[in-house]
Amino acid sequence: MSKIPDTILLRYGELALKGGNRNSFEKTLAANIASATESIADVKILRERGRMTATLKSNPERIERVANRIAEVPGLSSLSLCIPCEADPETISGLVNQHLLRMFEFSAPGAPRITFRVETKRADKRFPIASTEFDQYIAQRLPESLWDKLQVQLKRPELVIGVDIRTKGAYVYFGRTPGIGGLPVGSQGRVVCLLSGGIDSPVAAYYAMKRGCRVDFISFLSPPYIGEPTRQKLVKLVRKVGRFQPKNRLHIVPFTEIQEAIRDHAPEAYRTILYRRMMQKIASRIAFRNRGKAIITGESIGQVASQTLSNIACIEEASLLPVIRPLIGFDKLETIKIAREIGTFDISNEPEPDCCTVFMPNGPVIHGQIAHCLEAEEKLDMKGLIKNALDGIEAIDIDTDA
Ligand code: ATP
Ligand code: MG
Repeated sequence: MSKIPDTILLRYGELALKGGNRNSFEKTLAANIASATESIADVKILRERGRMTATLKSNPERIERVANRIAEVPGLSSLSLCIPCEADPETISGLVNQHLLRMFEFSAPGAPRITFRVETKRADKRFPIASTEFDQYIAQRLPESLWDKLQVQLKRPELVIGVDIRTKGAYVYFGRTPGIGGLPVGSQGRVVCLLSGGIDSPVAAYYAMKRGCRVDFISFLSPPYIGEPTRQKLVKLVRKVGRFQPKNRLHIVPFTEIQEAIRDHAPEAYRTILYRRMMQKIASRIAFRNRGKAIITGESIGQVASQTLSNIACIEEASLLPVIRPLIGFDKLETIKIAREIGTFDISNEPEPDCCTVFMPNGPVIHGQIAHCLEAEEKLDMKGLIKNALDGIEAIDIDTDA
């Protein structure tokens, strides 16, 4: 019997399991967890009725690292480090006591009591004691030396001592860490995300992944106006935000020829909208090649001049796929908060410019009209420009930060 945790108990929300997709949901989740942890330790994942366990077959001292990594895999509601043992009342009670004694070994005498509750789940009804009674069984058998350190409190205790009784044995755990929720990446198909290097689009990509979409990244770059430093920044962003999914590819699209054509042949006030329409057209085609079903952007309403409802309508009209804007109702500060949490904020804040700043118009149109966009595009060799951009794509496969 192992005395230190070598297993992580993984829970996923019930809601996600409605309908007949449970099996594929679980398979996808297990595969994503395996992929997230493979560079840290040899982890064996077992699916067991409504939950999973991940057991370290090597490097047990890395369990915290593995747990932290798994906590970021979309699809999990919470996880707990746990100790597997025999499903036998005395064994379980002994293990709980041993662990608590170790936990309180260095606690100062007279320190305030820690509130706790035992939480037993009995999936195997052959176990001789019912759940609530077993909670009491454990509590009554706590070592005397801990009586002045612990106090039962059923509502919001500081410590939950969990006992999970399964057919093939039991797990004992102490506390739980929240997961990020959502759905396993891949369970909802693929999308492409327009990644700009700003604060918003990486956050938008995160939300798409969290809802189970596999995201392919697309960035537009205009060398020599916008070049290597911005490219490096984009790679760094994907390396960071891409850790929420198993594999990452960034498509870098050359945009210089298109921007120069728009500068030379279209009304100045429409430049930004026309750039964005081109991005939609090209992104739609990249999506088709990769079985992508939607385009994700970091736009929200009214955040910058280009993001009025009429301009959003002009941009959307150019897309061949649904455009999804996870941040549509976010204030900038809300987006920044998430960007900090997922670790992209500092990278986005690096001062490297975005290609939309090239030939920036003096008075950009605030309420663009689709008819004017179409008229301007008639003067451009749209087919040729799009073809050249697609032919010049550089696709980079990116390993993420483990
Ligand atoms: P971000 O912080 O993501 O740049 P933003 O609020 O600054 O967003 P814009 O710069 O107007 O807004 O860009 C709106 C959206 O257009 C971006 O979120 C991104 O999805 C897309 N986008 C803009 N520039 C590029 C680019 N060079 N490559 C790819 N996508 C881009
Ligand atoms: Mg921007």
